[in-house]
Amino acid sequence: MRTPLVMGNWKLNGTKDSVTALVNGLIEPAKAATNVQTAICPPVVFLGQVEALVGDAPIAYGAQDASVNTSGAFTGENSPVMLKEFGCTYNLVGHSERRQYHNETDAVVAAKFKAIQENQLVPVLCIGETLEENEAGKTEAVVETQLKAVIDLCGVEALENAVIAYEPVWAIGTGKSATSEQAQAIHAHIRSWLAAQSATVAEKVQILYGGSVKAATAKELFSQPDIDGALVGGASLMAEEFGAIIAAA
Ligand code: 13P
Repeated sequence: MRTPLVMGNWKLNGTKDSVTALVNGLIEPAKAATNVQTAICPPVVFLGQVEALVGDAPIAYGAQDASVNTSGAFTGENSPVMLKEFGCTYNLVGHSERRQYHNETDAVVAAKFKAIQENQLVPVLCIGETLEENEAGKTEAVVETQLKAVIDLCGVEALENAVIAYEPVWAIGTGKSATSEQAQAIHAHIRSWLAAQSATVAEKVQILYGGSVKAATAKELFSQPDIDGALVGGASLMAEEFGAIIAAA
């Protein structure tokens, strides 16, 4: 049985004050949801603050990106070793905004996945098709290619200690979520595609849905057998709304 994971991706949002209010507002909902893993991905400048605020509360956290390098002359990068030192558990990798605005190819994403895992962080591998790919009926092929890049470099077993987040690009920040049936269908496809390579991995790996998840739609999504939680953007910036999503898992 897979434990549900509800993860907030704050993207490029927050101030010192809002971070304090938000983390403090999540402690009770996270404690109350005993069978749910709660996690947040703040901008890295807030990681020290988040570490102090979380204390021993059951809220894991991680960065939204990481360098493939652990140290050296790489201006502007954040090393997975440093992220680990700040108490991170998870690390997003391959978010569609990184792929789109920072030209992260499948090969770059796979290299980052490897560096993250080698430094004892759990990669949250984001995959998903654009609207154009969706309309052309290419969804399955796109997610398979994105997964295959990581599997070719790291081996399918690497996904045993990772999380997959299926986020259709057309549903991100648009208010237009995939229906629970649409999301379940592609999650089931991903799991059966993985099962053909490793039954253990397919059974163990948490597959999160992301894209305009809200408290109002969360319960229905989480009731699907292959949806193991959510990666939440906009709604994770409001403690009450995100708390309600955690409670729905
Ligand atoms: P929204 O929930 O704002 O659509 O963002 C989803 C997302 O990209 C999470 O990583």
